[in-house]
Amino acid sequence: MENSKQMRTWLDDLGLNHPLVIAGPCSAETEEQVLKIAHELKDTDVNYYRAGIWKPRTRPGNFEGVGALGLKWLQKVKEETGLKTATEVANRAHVELALEHDIDLLWVGARSTVSPFIVQEIADALKGTDKIVLVKNPVNPDLSLWLGAVERLYSSDIKKLGVIHRGFSTYEKSKYRNIPEWQLAIELQTKFPDLPIINDPSHITGNRDMIFDVSQTALDLNFDGLIIETHHDPENAWSDAAQQVTPKTLVQIMNDLRIRKETDEEAEYKKSLSNLRAQIDIIDNQLIENLGKRMKVSDGIGKLKKRKNVAVLQSNRWNQILGAMILEGESKGLSEEFVLKMFKAIHQESINHQEKIMQA
Ligand code: PEP
Ligand code: MN
Repeated sequence: MENSKQMRTWLDDLGLNHPLVIAGPCSAETEEQVLKIAHELKDTDVNYYRAGIWKPRTRPGNFEGVGALGLKWLQKVKEETGLKTATEVANRAHVELALEHDIDLLWVGARSTVSPFIVQEIADALKGTDKIVLVKNPVNPDLSLWLGAVERLYSSDIKKLGVIHRGFSTYEKSKYRNIPEWQLAIELQTKFPDLPIINDPSHITGNRDMIFDVSQTALDLNFDGLIIETHHDPENAWSDAAQQVTPKTLVQIMNDLRIRKETDEEAEYKKSLSNLRAQIDIIDNQLIENLGKRMKVSDGIGKLKKRKNVAVLQSNRWNQILGAMILEGESKGLSEEFVLKMFKAIHQESINHQEKIMQA
């Protein structure tokens, strides 16, 4: 797939002076609910109204969506509010029904992107459509799998394309529902600067209180838009209750976000600078997180040494680490002087930790 400017024409044609906004409930629940939320989102910055009709749930027994009936409700949304509509499709039947009901934007969900068979089936069913198709990242952090899905659609002559970053599953517990792995999204933007990229803070955070911060990071990293789950009564939503915001909160979030304008040379410079700084902030946080993890392991070693009455300082081991890290640093363009200074500081902190354990 070559990088084609054509991929983003649909977005440029909207002529927006703010990021693209897709909002609406996680799931369509009832006709009243769908219309109520849509009316509250009318006359805001929202461009597309989302609602899941077929819900892929991790385990059976939860609400699995209202099915094709919900497509009629989305049609009503368009008639009554003028909002364009969006839903997830996960097989050929979904695609055919969504096209029949003139849904304007279709997305491929994270659980579908992982399966080339399913993506191919969707791509075949959509062949040549002029609808917008967005591909969510697969649940696992695999850039090739994500791009592979986009390529399958591109090869099916679908030209209005884009991707949605909704974070990745991990075994380790974290404050996120799905870890953002920003570096991966940045790599994708670097490879395909003309492929629109939308952020999904709702599924990344799983928590409405974190939506603003993640949205801001996304905009700072030049994302083109946001998809935010919005419900008039979030606490009682039939799915993803903890992460949905009210239409009022959504409007507040959109007002508070710092949105960069891109026009002249000066703005271009500022944009690059803040993009780079946002990357630095993320990496610095990772550095601190990893150093904290290292110290925890070191504490474990301290306890072990105490139990066996072994000295804190093990010179051979320490020299080995230093030698290996100086070489490693060199291969990454880091000076010996810097690596030595940094590791001496880390080592000292580690000794302090272990000393404390020994003396406890
Ligand atoms: C959704 O957008 O409601 C959804 C199911 O998302 P994901 O595919 O990212 O889990
Ligand atoms: Mn959801």
